[in-house]
Amino acid sequence: MKEKHAIFALNHQQLYEIPHSLWQKNCAEKHLLLRYLALPIKETERQLWLAIDDEANLNACEIFAFISHKQIEPVIVASEELKFLLNALSPETTFYEESPELNLEISPDEPEETHLDDPIIQLLDNLFKFCLTENASDIHIEPHKQQLLIRLRIDGVLYPYKSLSSAFSRRVVSRIKLLAKLDISETRRPQDGQFSFTTALADTLDFRVSTLPINEGEKVVLRLQKNKPTQLDFATLGFTEKQGETLRHALTQPQGLILVTGPTGSGKSITLYSALNYLNHPDKHILTAEDPIEIEIEGLIQSQVNHGIGLDFSQLLRTFLRQDPDIIMLGEIRDEESARIALRAAQTGHLVLSTLHTNDALSAVERLNQLGIQDYEIANSLILVVAQRLLRKICPTCGGEGCQTCFQGYKGRTGIYQLLSRRGKSFKKTTACLDYPSLLESAKEKIAQGITNEQEVGRILGEEFL
Ligand SMILES: [Zn+2]
Repeated sequence: MKEKHAIFALNHQQLYEIPHSLWQKNCAEKHLLLRYLALPIKETERQLWLAIDDEANLNACEIFAFISHKQIEPVIVASEELKFLLNALSPETTFYEESPELNLEISPDEPEETHLDDPIIQLLDNLFKFCLTENASDIHIEPHKQQLLIRLRIDGVLYPYKSLSSAFSRRVVSRIKLLAKLDISETRRPQDGQFSFTTALADTLDFRVSTLPINEGEKVVLRLQKNKPTQLDFATLGFTEKQGETLRHALTQPQGLILVTGPTGSGKSITLYSALNYLNHPDKHILTAEDPIEIEIEGLIQSQVNHGIGLDFSQLLRTFLRQDPDIIMLGEIRDEESARIALRAAQTGHLVLSTLHTNDALSAVERLNQLGIQDYEIANSLILVVAQRLLRKICPTCGGEGCQTCFQGYKGRTGIYQLLSRRGKSFKKTTACLDYPSLLESAKEKIAQGITNEQEVGRILGEEFL
């Protein structure tokens, strides 16, 4: 009988199959493998292929030559991928035996029970559980010519999870479309949907699903919905005491515009949701226009943009103004129209919260200028700009060495912020209060406190850091 294999892609391309017996041996020696940063991936009677991330890792080659009495064939792989595989070492990993007669069709009418020992169901089951334990935010399922690559985003970084033979592509994609109640016969148009998955431990995971027709079939992205945010308060988001005070002061103003800026994935939504959570009282009428609604908060009136019927931010915002709101949250200021209505609302007795895609706080004013908003209009309505980024935190258990409770030495993220607030009656670039650390200074403070490291700051701030 053919031995089962775990199949992985290293360096994003080359496929390696690790035989089941070798995988079991690796699991038993996980401690040693982590210490030497090496992973045996293939062996014959005389040779052992050893994945390492650096040719200079002679220690690993020597020790494994000594233990195995075999000649070592080093295979150089990217450091992140090696660490990922070492972390994934577990006897529970699913193994696949490629079978050419595998039925590639899946019938939506077939009862669930008949699929119970289906490898695809097993694969997805394990994948979802892995996402829950590693706190992944997105799953990417990507059909390529030679392989079906599954990647996960954890704390903002995308990692390869598994690579399967491309013969599995259609079945995996169909299975997810079935779960999300999408039309599985429609493969030429993008679709979106959602579904819930309950693990054996009764944790429920809610996924938002998006499909995209591509050259090799359909790519699927699953975003894990965090419906029950654990914490929505400023201190745990990484604001300093002074920054938190400034933010709270701005939020208590009866009218004006508060902007949160940063690139995609910099945690702007969480800051906005935390602000709304802070403002959420029965005596306040809070309306939100979102695309999509990421977190549902009891007490808010949340609306979803629907481009299909022309319900965009501007139209929702115009309608909001006829709904007698106190506070309005606009997911994003994207164009001149939404900028104009947001500013008008902020000047007519409403507190307006929104986001802009700019790198730092000062650029927010320039961006509003570019959208056709005059300086005097900005001066009359803007009260605070918060620029932000997210940094991965060093695991407190192992101090960044890598352990069972963390992912590659990191666990969770914290924010760094730069605030620009109104001084006096109006907001002017020249007189706005910049008495706050820059993003870089905030980052350095977090390094000094041992919360994150230089490598992570360099990854996020890039050239600004150098
Ligand atoms: Zn750790």
